Amino acid sequence: MPLFFDPGQPIATCVSETCDRCPAAKVLHCHFTFRDLTHFLLAVLPSFLVGGAGIFHQGGWWLIPWIFIMLGFFGLVEIRVLCTHCPHYAETGKSLRCWANYGSPKLWRYRPGPMVFWEKLVFATGLLLVWGYPAYFLIRDFQSFLLLLYLVTTAGFFMTLSACFCSRCMNFACPLNRVEDENRKRFWEKNPGIARAWKASAQKSGDQETPIPADS
Ligand code: SF4
Ligand code: SF4
Repeated sequence: MPLFFDPGQPIATCVSETCDRCPAAKVLHCHFTFRDLTHFLLAVLPSFLVGGAGIFHQGGWWLIPWIFIMLGFFGLVEIRVLCTHCPHYAETGKSLRCWANYGSPKLWRYRPGPMVFWEKLVFATGLLLVWGYPAYFLIRDFQSFLLLLYLVTTAGFFMTLSACFCSRCMNFACPLNRVEDENRKRFWEKNPGIARAWKASAQKSGDQETPIPADS
């Protein structure tokens, strides 16, 4: 099985026969490559290395709970609350092959449409735990240089995430997603099943803010 899906083939939710000349292809990331995965890892690793060094300074054993938090969040919890809403989750295979949670298992069914409130809450809490745990040790131990470095690398990661990933990500359900409405519509035109799920959700909740997809 290839490490990534064929960039020339439309994704599982797409009704188009080819990605050639698709207006969504220029503005969204429907396919992922080794380069995307490397870019993501290079962006996130500095904050993890600096945070890990700060925890290690207090005692290597304190790294173990952090590792469990990260494995539990990125391997399970985030997959349930966030990734099950992502079109990539609908692809074949038993694990994700994207730019961020590569290799995480797909234990649940695909849920097109927006995240509900509790899912967003769990997602935000998970992010807070992952990046807040090292910050606690750095502050408690007055490791001012490492704390400053940690803040800079963490801010750098989230800025890179926002600029290079969230602005082109096809998981519109994510609270961090920054894809413009007109580009969402371009994607929904090619993925009518997802469009219907968003429309049904907006109508059910009386949501006036979410851009409702055109009839598909
Ligand atoms: S929306 Fe466009 S780029 Fe994405 S899979 Fe479909 S045809 Fe390809
Ligand atoms: S939401 Fe992001 S990490 Fe999750 S499956 Fe989609 S692209 Fe991958």
